[in-house]
Amino acid sequence: MPAVPESSYKVFLNGKLVAKADAAVSIDSVAFKYAAMVFEGIRGYWNEKEGQLFVFRLADHARRLEESVRVMRMETSLTGIDLSEAVLRVLEANAVSQDVHIRQMVYVDGGGEMFTRGPVGHAVVVTPKAGWFSRENDGIEACVSSWHRISDHSIPPRVKCAANYQNGRLALLQARLDGYDAAILTNPSGKISEEPRGCIFVVRRGEVVTPRITDNILESITRETLIRLLRELHGIEVLQREVDRTELYLAREVFVCGTGFEVVPVLAVDRHPVGSGKPGEITVALRNSYLKVVRGENANYSEWLSPVYKVCNDSPRPQL
Ligand code: PMP
Repeated sequence: MPAVPESSYKVFLNGKLVAKADAAVSIDSVAFKYAAMVFEGIRGYWNEKEGQLFVFRLADHARRLEESVRVMRMETSLTGIDLSEAVLRVLEANAVSQDVHIRQMVYVDGGGEMFTRGPVGHAVVVTPKAGWFSRENDGIEACVSSWHRISDHSIPPRVKCAANYQNGRLALLQARLDGYDAAILTNPSGKISEEPRGCIFVVRRGEVVTPRITDNILESITRETLIRLLRELHGIEVLQREVDRTELYLAREVFVCGTGFEVVPVLAVDRHPVGSGKPGEITVALRNSYLKVVRGENANYSEWLSPVYKVCNDSPRPQL
């Protein structure tokens, strides 16, 4: 299969493959004016041995995108099946044979008012992307932000809407000016919610703990994956409960996770070293398990993978 150079990757826009330069959104659109856009960040992992590109938990991303569309009351007849199929089609059309990040967006395309619900546009953009960290011992330093996480009674964090990311931007811009890599946000009750790009896990007193889905977090697909992998591969039952700021200072291990992050150790919080200040044992073991699963190197989790290419002498790709 001839590889297509990244510069010529086509974008899927409203049912058609077009050059990236032609995939425009009007400056007058409600999407641009009011950030009326919901999206998903998805990863595709190239498995060299099998000559296959696997999309991780595609149906779950499609379901979450449908949920975001519903909460934000966008007017569209797109189903989860259409959304999944669009991702597979664009990857196949671009003959992708490397690790990629896929951004799927649904947005209010026309001009109008703040309450305009349609017409709705749909786009899938593919970008080559390697894993977050290539070196074994890397990790990040975080602060607890003075910005609070958005709330379900104002702008719901459970919905993956572009507008939500302005909250994350404020926290990250401040954190980076102050010399940190990452920002951890608290909810209005002062409990830990999440990093603007991922969910948080804490290892403390022999327990692995993560904030609840009602603590102002995105219902992260990676978080749910790791809870299952910890149970099934590492014999650890994760506790979902409120987490205090000072628990981060006293933790043995802290890590953040997400489709983009994968599993990233947090080495210090507010300049308090976490544990020994090096990636923890559970974090590293879990990251290794996760990276095997997403790349299709653990057959027990193949139901989470959507292969992009039809395999010779095999039945056609199953409909999602
Ligand atoms: N929280 C936020 C705010 C995020 O943007 C992300 C990345 N999508 C996550 C958590 C992790 O979610 P997921 O594991 O589904 O990528």
